[in-house]
Amino acid sequence: MASTLAGIVGERRVLERRSALTAYASDGLPGYHQVPSLAVFPGTRDELVAVVRALAGAGLPFVPRGAGTGLSGGALADGTVLLGLNRLTRILDIDPVNRIATVEPGVVNSALQKAAAVHGLHYAPDPSSQSACTIGGNVAENAGGPHCLKYGVTLNHTVACTVLLPDGEIVTLGSRHGETAGYDLLGAFVGSEGCFGVALDCTVRLLPDPPRVRTLLADFSQLHDAALATSAIIASGILPAALEMMDGAAVRLVEASVYAAGYPTDCDAVLLVDLDGVADGLEDDVAAVDAICRAHGARHVRIATDGAERTLLWQGRKKAFGAMGRAAPHLVLQDAVVPRTRLPDMLQQIAGIGARHGVAVWNIFHAGDGNLHPSVSYDAGNPGEAARVHACMTEIMQACIAAGGTITGEHGVGLDKIDYMPALFDGDTLAAMCRLRDVFDPAHLSNRGKVVPVHTCREWHQAPAGRAT
Ligand SMILES: Cc1cc2nc3c(=O)[nH]c(=O)nc-3n(C[C@H](O)[C@H](O)[C@H](O)COP(=O)(O)OP(=O)(O)OC[C@H]3O[C@@H](n4cnc5c(N)ncnc54)[C@H](O)[C@@H]3O)c2cc1C
Repeated sequence: MASTLAGIVGERRVLERRSALTAYASDGLPGYHQVPSLAVFPGTRDELVAVVRALAGAGLPFVPRGAGTGLSGGALADGTVLLGLNRLTRILDIDPVNRIATVEPGVVNSALQKAAAVHGLHYAPDPSSQSACTIGGNVAENAGGPHCLKYGVTLNHTVACTVLLPDGEIVTLGSRHGETAGYDLLGAFVGSEGCFGVALDCTVRLLPDPPRVRTLLADFSQLHDAALATSAIIASGILPAALEMMDGAAVRLVEASVYAAGYPTDCDAVLLVDLDGVADGLEDDVAAVDAICRAHGARHVRIATDGAERTLLWQGRKKAFGAMGRAAPHLVLQDAVVPRTRLPDMLQQIAGIGARHGVAVWNIFHAGDGNLHPSVSYDAGNPGEAARVHACMTEIMQACIAAGGTITGEHGVGLDKIDYMPALFDGDTLAAMCRLRDVFDPAHLSNRGKVVPVHTCREWHQAPAGRAT
């Protein structure tokens, strides 16, 4: 197969040596380590189609991979073919009149933002990984981001995808210009985590930049108060464009790094709030959020005075996970959603669970969505520490489920959360998911073994040995 693929993409674009393949053995969650049998990197749409058809002809399974920033082990290919999409980076069309853009799957999120900005437009989903992650990966994970509180996640901004099914057929899902008749197969494809085929191109909505944005940073001496303020802001009827929380430990780490943003280092939590809209009434919302934060114990509320200060304040949040690299060589970053009103209680529980396992848990998360990202810096080479981190994270996820929450707000199920699926869905529901998958990929060639742990899928597998090691 390697020589067939080399005949399509050129020899340099097919990797066979284990030393080279090791670079693709993990994604953003380094607790998993799975080495592909070979990796192939098509550079054009035609090459991609020819590669998948060759694999399908040989009955070989494959795993699509964008930038590999995923945090659920979704883009790992264990002894199968890794299909790298990162060379497909053309923005095919920006249509400012209809406010849509069509891009190849490997276009990096921030590259699309940059191209849209020229027209006074932007693409709303803004994962914190946006300087690296791809639009194809965003569509596959139904990615979110700070501004999805007000504007919605990837699904709300994707109008059409051309999809290469695992058997080599090409189908168009959705339509460039709005509603389509029939089943909403685009809705099914967005968030399918590479199990339904490969996005060949994606057409996404662009939004006009808001006329005005105000950014506030409120700092608290109690994490609990920041969580109560979050609930109170939403309950007041104001819908911030973004409402993010970072705990004091995370703040101190950021401030000690090159991403320092001038956050107060003696606090227990900060809230970072964006309010946007037309100038009329916006200052009233700013004053109201300021007052709510102070009423819930905020010591200071800093309001950015210009674009440069806004960018600086956001840098601290967006680069916070990068700053964690200072603490230890590896990072586990989870993703669980709880009802917003449960945030104060959950944060307390997370601290208690961490303390019981002797693990320091950071919290940097999309508070407005109740979307927690408990994170731990650790040394995966230390088996004792890795086991404690794994046990701690498992308990946290179980606590979130018990609180009426779910196991992923935006990062997907992948390998990492597959064992939690039976706690959320009954057997019939899981079987229905399998049957849906069969429609797109009856031979289970694309990203097999991920997402749905149902025996009838013949994909039941044990938690990988590499888990949390
Ligand atoms: C520091 C950091 C911060 C993050 N912040 C956020 C955040 O705020 N919000 C958020 O939602 N996520 C966040 N993430 C997670 C991650 O960046 C997103 O899930 C992103 O969408 C993954 O894109 P990718 O190109 O890296 O995909 P990959 O990791 O390469 O792949 C992810 C999944 O998508 C599939 N896939 C990739 N491309 C295609 C395609 N063209 N067609 C079909 N399937 C495909 C893969 O098979 C895999 O299952 C963060 C990650 C990091 C490391």
